[in-house]
Amino acid sequence: MDAFTLTVAAALAALTMAASMGLLYLASARQTCLVDWSLAAVFLAVSNMMGAIALHTQTSPIIVIACVNALHIGGHFGMLAGIRRHLHLAPGWRWGAVLVAAVLAAHMLPVLHDAALARRIALMPVIGAINLASAWLLWRQRDFDARASYLPLIVLQVLSALQQIGRVAVVIAYDGDPPGFLGDHFYRTSGALAMLVYLSLATMCSALIVTHQQTLALRRASLTDVLTGWLNRRALHDIATRDFRRCRRTGSAMFFITFDIDHFKAINDRYGHGVGDAAICHVTALSARVLRGYDALFRIGGEEFAMLVVGENLGAVCGIAERLREVVAGAPLAADGATVAMTVSVGVAALDQQDHKWEDILRRADEALYHAKQHGRNRVSVHGRDLADRGHGMWLQAVGA
Ligand code: GH3
Ligand code: MG
Ligand code: MG
Repeated sequence: MDAFTLTVAAALAALTMAASMGLLYLASARQTCLVDWSLAAVFLAVSNMMGAIALHTQTSPIIVIACVNALHIGGHFGMLAGIRRHLHLAPGWRWGAVLVAAVLAAHMLPVLHDAALARRIALMPVIGAINLASAWLLWRQRDFDARASYLPLIVLQVLSALQQIGRVAVVIAYDGDPPGFLGDHFYRTSGALAMLVYLSLATMCSALIVTHQQTLALRRASLTDVLTGWLNRRALHDIATRDFRRCRRTGSAMFFITFDIDHFKAINDRYGHGVGDAAICHVTALSARVLRGYDALFRIGGEEFAMLVVGENLGAVCGIAERLREVVAGAPLAADGATVAMTVSVGVAALDQQDHKWEDILRRADEALYHAKQHGRNRVSVHGRDLADRGHGMWLQAVGA
């Protein structure tokens, strides 16, 4: 093995990465960061090809060295640009172009023009800083679901920065003339080997990030209602099952507040489905106002909704239900030049010691909701207080009715 062979291998790895990122872009939901990473790989491929040609012909005019180094830095910058775009920041390619031009120009300075060691010392902090900036941007993300997929790239970028520092440190320690490595000049062979490993791993890390993001997006979509953005029935099943088990184990209280828009068919019939949809969104937006951060909201039917409240007493939950009724009744929807007054009927039920599944509580909340409909609408009914409690009243007393 020698520097030439390793540099050709690194160029091929860069081409593989460019193609992989491009194909993934076409096959996926067109995540543009993949184009940045593909471009970064193209820069690194051209940089390595030029480097290999220079090694093969054994002629290295300064303009070739300048291009090799500038494209190398452009490649690392492309990785940073893709990460920024993935995180919904401006990729900053303009700054990348300025940096590449500055690196090219710097090679014309006599201090860099004439001394390979000076070039290595000058370029190392630039590449290291780009790598560390990429790692830091990913590290500071608060989205913990997504962050798990960032860790491999964070580690890779930090290792890349460290190997830059390490290689230059070795060269300085040997006063510019370290012993050979893998049959050739240390700096060249170690650099080409590091680039080969970096590109192979960067391909996997980048692919992991975008596929993980798609998985998260699909998962979120499968749990969310398209019209309102609220959680759907599938999410209700997951969250209520978990909370029910926990509340049974710890003896905590658990409540369902269900509500349904009154005479909604009349709104649809009079104003059309568009206004009907807007009315549903209006009610959900109003309902969100009465919630505390940790309560969960679900759209469980066309214009039927549920709130899951854990760890409160019945008095407080009835207060939430009453505020919900008031806030909807007090804020008519303005749509298509019309004012659409709306009310909701609300049912409340609590976890009972005899319940075997969360659906038992929801069923009782629905019974209470039906009771509210039967008794004039625009009102709150509480199971065990306002309607026959079928022997569950003792538990309501126990949770603070
Ligand atoms: P009640 O007071 O008894 O609840 O009377 P209601 O007219 O509201 O009756 P119901 O709750 O059964 O109304 C359901 C209607 O909601 C039927 C359906 O046409 C309408 N609907 C269901 N989903 C949607 C939706 O996503 N958009 C619109 N615009 N209408 C919907
Ligand atoms: Mg209704
Ligand atoms: Mg309904």
